[in-house]
Amino acid sequence: MSTDPYAWIDDALETIHRADWYRSVHAIEGRPGATVVLDGREVINFASNDYLGLAGDERLIAAAVATTQKFGTGSTGSRLLSGHRELHRELEIAIASWKQTADAIVFSSGYLANLGAIAAVVGKRDFILSDQYNHSSLKNGAILSGAAILEYPHCDLVALKTLLIQQRPKYRRCLIITDSVFSMDGDLCPLPALLDLADEFSCMLLIDEAHSTGVMGKTGAGCGEYFGCTGRPLIQIGTLSKALGSLGGYIAGSADLIDFLRNRAPSWIYTTALSPADTAAALAAINIVRQEPQRLTKLWNNVDFLKKSIWENLPNLKLLPSQSPIICLQLPNAKQALITSSHLKTSGIFAPAIRPPTVPTSRIRLSVMATHEAQHLQSLLTALIPIENLS
Ligand SMILES: *Cc1c(COP(=O)(O)O)cnc(C)c1O
Repeated sequence: MSTDPYAWIDDALETIHRADWYRSVHAIEGRPGATVVLDGREVINFASNDYLGLAGDERLIAAAVATTQKFGTGSTGSRLLSGHRELHRELEIAIASWKQTADAIVFSSGYLANLGAIAAVVGKRDFILSDQYNHSSLKNGAILSGAAILEYPHCDLVALKTLLIQQRPKYRRCLIITDSVFSMDGDLCPLPALLDLADEFSCMLLIDEAHSTGVMGKTGAGCGEYFGCTGRPLIQIGTLSKALGSLGGYIAGSADLIDFLRNRAPSWIYTTALSPADTAAALAAINIVRQEPQRLTKLWNNVDFLKKSIWENLPNLKLLPSQSPIICLQLPNAKQALITSSHLKTSGIFAPAIRPPTVPTSRIRLSVMATHEAQHLQSLLTALIPIENLS
């Protein structure tokens, strides 16, 4: 037995390459914004989650710098030991006030918030119903919890109800988990109907507002606000890392839920608290979003303009159904998606190819920003003309 125990890695990489699934990183230079410098060249940015253009905002930068001067770079420990600062609590209160929930808790990332929440609220005697298109963090949170997991077809309420009728009596607790804006598709979960089903079958409902926070609803509070479901019993997870331009995650919900999570969520208890700089930047972002509704208006004007222009002028492009700033162009396979993405890059447009295993079918994913100007959207539409016949 003298075979190299690591030799399989080379074979695995070879397989990834053959399927056109190989991925690598590309460096962005300078501050993020509607345009960025990518591989030494300025491109219009349709690849970022910075929907409101806050990640490069002077006020967030100033808040992060001032707080770093005052509190240092690291928080030095977990929240329950040496890591807690008054600033963390201020941020949690600001989130709860914005979402109109009794309380909130911040995590070091949205991914950790999902792992922690799911693993804390269900266990071996329970089951989870999970939308087929859910984000990786929801899926892995479900596995970590040890509960039985059943996937239901994407947004299929009939299938979900059938599963509830069959399975609900066999388990102690039930948790339904779903993205509220689906991250790689751009469509929404049917929240009011999910809340009704949860109520009917005595289930908890957890929604992942990563792409809704700062984006959906009149004040950007998310899909709860968008659907008029504010105040209904719900576990709302979100991120500080997308429209809020910082880094971190949160859970908003009842006072009891948050109190319980402070005692039982392992990915909160056993990890270092959010850095002072990230905390201050997120807090500054929430204040800006609430005080400057014009950012949200601009974002949605851009989204509406782009969708309408594609439908009218490029009718052969296959768009996935979307009710958010995430717009996906369907392509027949991974290779076409890569070719299209590189063609767009040549035309000065940064828009990633999203391929299996992230999604079942290959696509180009465009994220619209509030800070895109008319000429940016026009350049995109021009660059899409030769792609019309590929999709
Ligand atoms: C990005 C994302 C997360 C993870 O959030 P981070 O703060 O980046 O860790 C979780 N869920 C969904 C749906 C996401 O898109």
